[in-house]
Amino acid sequence: MTSWHEYVGVSHIHSTDSDGSKSVPEIIRIGQKTGLDFLFFSDHMTLRSLHQGLEGWHGNTFVLIGYEIHDKSSRNHYLAFNIDEVLPGEFSPQEYVKEVNRRGGLGIIAHPDETRVLPQFPAYPWTAWDAEEFDGIEIWNQMSEWMEGINKLNMLKMFVSPRRYLTSPTPKTLRIWDQLNKQRKVFGTSGVDVHAYPYGIGPFKLIIFPYEVQFKSLRTHLLLETPLSSDDQIAKKQIIDALKNCQLFISNYRWGDAKGFSFYAESKDRIAKIGESISSQDNVTFIIKTPQKCRIKLLRDGTTISEGVGKDLEYSCQKPGIYRVEAYKGKKGWIFSNHIWLV
Ligand SMILES: [Zn+2]
Ligand SMILES: [Zn+2]
Repeated sequence: MTSWHEYVGVSHIHSTDSDGSKSVPEIIRIGQKTGLDFLFFSDHMTLRSLHQGLEGWHGNTFVLIGYEIHDKSSRNHYLAFNIDEVLPGEFSPQEYVKEVNRRGGLGIIAHPDETRVLPQFPAYPWTAWDAEEFDGIEIWNQMSEWMEGINKLNMLKMFVSPRRYLTSPTPKTLRIWDQLNKQRKVFGTSGVDVHAYPYGIGPFKLIIFPYEVQFKSLRTHLLLETPLSSDDQIAKKQIIDALKNCQLFISNYRWGDAKGFSFYAESKDRIAKIGESISSQDNVTFIIKTPQKCRIKLLRDGTTISEGVGKDLEYSCQKPGIYRVEAYKGKKGWIFSNHIWLV
């Protein structure tokens, strides 16, 4: 059996540095109370809290501070981490993707296929697919999915129990992500995109998704070879390297704590974990274990090749391709892994 160190946190948080409703220190305290190992902040077009020295360890919670870039028309949202200054606002998406990469940063396409039903909330999908050097994609964005599901009839129910309405990443985004990974490694991650601002729609005005609730929904699980260092700079590099290497899976905590989920491939002399590749020369067995009973699906190149209900699934083959796992509780998406490459 293989062993790795799992760290669980939340990505894509907005604070009062832009359009969120609590300050970075207040949100950090909520993250600590929730027991999260890391928090990734990405306010719109500002690195204020980074420059105030808030990045790094806060007790047992590591805080990474980047920012959310948009183009001149407020579109093509891109999360940039490990970058010291805000790039010029007139950059095109192709230019900022390239520049973040050139500066050694980490770049994630945010809510790539966002569509929205209510006219008062416009959609901000990603359209610059000819940009080439992004590192990851938000395959599941809580705010987008929630806003897409809302209509005049279900509005009140959606407001009262927002997490119940999350189903799963969209097939379109998953398809794009799978296709990209046939060419090169692009990690898939989750974003809560939490602002927690009061929404006023018709007679209703209330805070949707307070931070406490958001932190118990879409979570990012990083798998590291060694424990996170107590040194801020080393820990930051460990986190960024794990993301770039696709060593992660995402989950919706609403349907159960996914901590302890494992997916790996085993051949006679080697084990490959999520984000790694393994040779198809030998027979390879994919081994999936989930902490709770669910419907487990193993996919190759985006197509389901094996599925079952339970807490584990095994599948042996030698066919090259990109393999990943989806786990469902009923119809609701629970766990989505990154890929293992059979080459
Ligand atoms: Zn955005
Ligand atoms: Zn955002």
